[in-house]
Amino acid sequence: MIKKINHIGIAVKNLGLSSDVFSKLFEQSKPHTEVVPEQKATIAFYPVGESSIELIESTSNDSAISKFIEKRGEGIHHICLEVDDIKAEIVRLKNHEFQFVNDVPTAGGDGYWVVFLHPKSTNGVLIELCEKMK
Ligand code: ZN
Repeated sequence: MIKKINHIGIAVKNLGLSSDVFSKLFEQSKPHTEVVPEQKATIAFYPVGESSIELIESTSNDSAISKFIEKRGEGIHHICLEVDDIKAEIVRLKNHEFQFVNDVPTAGGDGYWVVFLHPKSTNGVLIELCEKMK
């Protein structure tokens, strides 16, 4: 079951500069920041109500974020939907013929398992599913 929008991911070139902007926007001086080796990225979270805005900076030239910024520039990268059972959702969505970028959950940021649906099957929108690690 899909529970809520967990966060919206925004690809940025420079996390330090973008954090200055978003810290002013949300009046939060120090966002929670962490390195996510599995995604080759450093991320910063700004809580907004029950969701958050995730700024994503690449840590490698061959990462998905680097490629995204090369093609499209900075901006909204993905929408993350929080689910109660990620493996059940993968099966359910495959039955509806959705395609996945990866269909084995990996460690995302902030203590979540994550997978990505391929934008080919979701009208060009990259959708991340996440489930809180137990
Ligand atoms: Zn995300």
